[in-house]
Amino acid sequence: MIKVRWTGAAGIEFVTDQGVILIDPYLSRLGKFQVLFQKVVADTSVIDRYLDNLPSKFLSVIVGHTHLDHALDVPYLAQHSDCKILGSKSLDSLFNMHGLKDRVSVCNGNELLELSDNISVTMIPSVHGKVILGRVPFPGEIDPNEKLPMKGCGYCHGDVFIPKIKIDDTIFMHLGSANFIESQLDGHTCDVLFMCVPGWKRKTGYTSSLIDLVQPKIVVPFHFDDFSRSIPKTGKTPILPFQDMSGFVSEIKKYAPKVKIVFPKINSGMENDLF
Ligand SMILES: [Zn+2]
Repeated sequence: MIKVRWTGAAGIEFVTDQGVILIDPYLSRLGKFQVLFQKVVADTSVIDRYLDNLPSKFLSVIVGHTHLDHALDVPYLAQHSDCKILGSKSLDSLFNMHGLKDRVSVCNGNELLELSDNISVTMIPSVHGKVILGRVPFPGEIDPNEKLPMKGCGYCHGDVFIPKIKIDDTIFMHLGSANFIESQLDGHTCDVLFMCVPGWKRKTGYTSSLIDLVQPKIVVPFHFDDFSRSIPKTGKTPILPFQDMSGFVSEIKKYAPKVKIVFPKINSGMENDLF
């Protein structure tokens, strides 16, 4: 049994028989003003509500890169579990600032990590997309000498990975940022490809050679929501402007007509569309 949900931004939740796996959870959804001009802290009331409804224990929390919208909430989540935390040196620095020493399994890239008998993860080295005016925001490593709380700009992206996770016989690949290194994807294929939409036009081959390389059966576009706004209980998810979603979809349909495209809805199970 696998249940799969998009939890907003680049967050994906897998509920498996062995426990819950999160990639890049970001539930706080802080407002733009706070992110740009103030020091930032996780919204623990929102995270507590999420934890109250957790169907089983965490098996792992995996972080593809350490921008605020991928990593801010992870130390708080980690304090409620002894699960395996996978990420970069920058994530480890962030955890150290929180007093959580030796909690992160620091990945260098390409190692195969077994989470259980039937679940494994490979962190494929990648690079960040040019999402803001053709530039990569907040590059470099999180400064280990910084003090909390930091401003949003302190959450530098660190090493960037594409987590590839195999659960039973299904392989998922998670592109939390619209970029990749062609040579690093050599030999890696998947069934389901989560594709970050923002910045997709800035990476040549994002909708063609990437799909050619990893051969997904299903593409799930995501990270297109306006994560500076909370998720409405009813009605439409707010989306980021200027994404050209229809252009994104028609490019994929043009280059890979056999690939099924599944548009996720935040917090709705998508397993019926995936399996
Ligand atoms: Zn990022």
